[in-house]
Amino acid sequence: MTFYKIAEGVFVVIGGSFPKCNTVVIIADEVVVIDPGCSVEDLRGFLMAQDLDLRKIDTVILSHIHPDHITHTMRLNRLSGCRIAANEITAPLFNEKEEMKKFLGFHKGNPVRKLWEQLVNERMYGAFDEGRVDEVLKKGDTFGLGDITLKTLHTPGHLPDHMCIEIVEPNIIFASDLDLTEFGPYYGHPNSSIRDFKMSIKKVQHGEYDGLISGHLRDPLIVDYKTRLAAYARQIRIREDLVLSAILEGANTMPEITANPIIYPSLTNPVFLQFETWMIEHHVSSLIDRGLVEEDKGKIKEI
Ligand SMILES: [Zn+2]
Repeated sequence: MTFYKIAEGVFVVIGGSFPKCNTVVIIADEVVVIDPGCSVEDLRGFLMAQDLDLRKIDTVILSHIHPDHITHTMRLNRLSGCRIAANEITAPLFNEKEEMKKFLGFHKGNPVRKLWEQLVNERMYGAFDEGRVDEVLKKGDTFGLGDITLKTLHTPGHLPDHMCIEIVEPNIIFASDLDLTEFGPYYGHPNSSIRDFKMSIKKVQHGEYDGLISGHLRDPLIVDYKTRLAAYARQIRIREDLVLSAILEGANTMPEITANPIIYPSLTNPVFLQFETWMIEHHVSSLIDRGLVEEDKGKIKEI
């Protein structure tokens, strides 16, 4: 179990890369857990080290609906009776898991839906548990926890419901899946948006924080986050150039473009091929918007 103390009463329990995530724990007037996607044993161990336990959790806040971030929410709710807080877009998806599946692109007709559900159940068990959000947060809502105030910051793109959470004192932002990983920005669902992602990166860059907490880096606190976000955003353009060169070299359909993986290093799992395809579809749309390629009778061609 690894955890970092970020400031007085602000901790991160490391979950690391997908299918887990880093979990922020705030111990103030209340015990607040943000994104319970680390190992539940690690969260238990961390709380015990603070003379607390899982039953003492008052509130769970969700940054967005991804299974690796909501994994243990209902388990903690059953143990502690904690309230669950999420934003206006996330809440109805959490309350109705079929809506969540559709939102993520896995409607009943999706050919890899079963495999994806299997992946979630094997690696993020609990994410599909039925439950309800108790407190719906609006954009920019603040909530005070004694010495610590939290404020939501809507940052769509990764998914339309994605939000960061500003920890106003001590002036740190939990950036969740604006995660600054080597992999780069993830926008692998039909409703993800490259344009919104770039705007959200700018929004966080403009904030004058003392540090950023990544949702997935094992060394989670980044102080020079403005430079790191610029490098992170550049990955989008690098990928777009790779998609364009594949098209210029004669790949004219999605299977032809995805024949050589561009985003994931290898594609042996059909679920990840689906994510790669959705990400590349966003790039093709972007290239069309930029007037560099066109789609004609199902074929993607240079203009
Ligand atoms: Zn996510």
